[in-house]
Amino acid sequence: MTIRVGILTAPHIDFEQREHTFLLRNVRIGIGFHWDRLEDQEFAGRLEILHNADDTETAVNIIDLEQYLESVISSEMSADSPMELLKAHAIISRGWAMRAIEANRASASKMRNAAFESNGHIGFDVCADDHCQRYEGLRRMNERAIEAVRATRGQVLTYDGSICDTRFYKCCGGRTEEFETCWEDIHYPYLESVECPWCDTHDERILRSVLNDYDQETSDFHDWTVSYTAAELHDILREKSGIDFGTIIDLRPLRRGKSGRIFEMDIVGSLRTERIGKELKIRRWLSRTCLYSSWFDVEKTKDGFTLRGHGWGHGVGLCQIGAAVMADKGYTAEQILAHYYPHSTITTL
Ligand SMILES: [Zn+2]
Ligand SMILES: [Zn+2]
Repeated sequence: MTIRVGILTAPHIDFEQREHTFLLRNVRIGIGFHWDRLEDQEFAGRLEILHNADDTETAVNIIDLEQYLESVISSEMSADSPMELLKAHAIISRGWAMRAIEANRASASKMRNAAFESNGHIGFDVCADDHCQRYEGLRRMNERAIEAVRATRGQVLTYDGSICDTRFYKCCGGRTEEFETCWEDIHYPYLESVECPWCDTHDERILRSVLNDYDQETSDFHDWTVSYTAAELHDILREKSGIDFGTIIDLRPLRRGKSGRIFEMDIVGSLRTERIGKELKIRRWLSRTCLYSSWFDVEKTKDGFTLRGHGWGHGVGLCQIGAAVMADKGYTAEQILAHYYPHSTITTL
């Protein structure tokens, strides 16, 4: 099985074909997140360049699914991650990618170029960025990640005969979230909210094992605080939403998911009040980059607002830091997956 990975879209794709690989220049990674930056990257497999209606070009890498996964696990995880964590991650990343391929092909056969239901990509199955799964080609390949992918070859999580939607993120903050808080109003029994007593750690060794070097600029993501003056918040909101709220008077959380993540809130300004959701929009609007999570309490201060929050990411499915701690304590990949995806089964396809 092959997968089509959209690497980047630009006015012109700058590439160099090599003997068995190709090089792409100026690939942007971490778009909209705090580690946003440009890199040159090398890829195995084939390169296809799409010419888009708006005169831009998209570089698509067509590659064997298992080879794609070896790179994803190498990109997402560090080489010294516990093996059971790498294996657990290989299983969920494989299932996630297979669902994307299936959904893309189903929509393509119904209507050509129809927007792909679950991730919006046209002309390819997944993108190479954190929006889908981080895929950085050959640069970060590591032997242990490759071993984990090979040891779990063909394994995916299933529920009721279908491949599970195996979401994951960095740190839940103490409790995982349900799917419907972040996306459509669908309840998946295997994405129930569960307690996570594992991810409240400052153990450098474990954090280093899960986070790639550029993520280590931050370590207090289980419990974090962000403070803004009212003027700063006004500017951020204007930049991110395009709306001039006037003086920001209040931030009012209205509805929260099971973990505490806000999925509906009012932003009250002297000129405008807006009701916004779900969690990703809240995170994007309330930060110059992206707030760690939407699980926070709002405290009004003398000159602005302080947000006291928990966790890093949407919180649905596997908590990477929590899973790393479980693996470090001797839990197997099967036990880790059973904890974060209750009622699911490992199936070999
Ligand atoms: Zn994507
Ligand atoms: Zn956790």
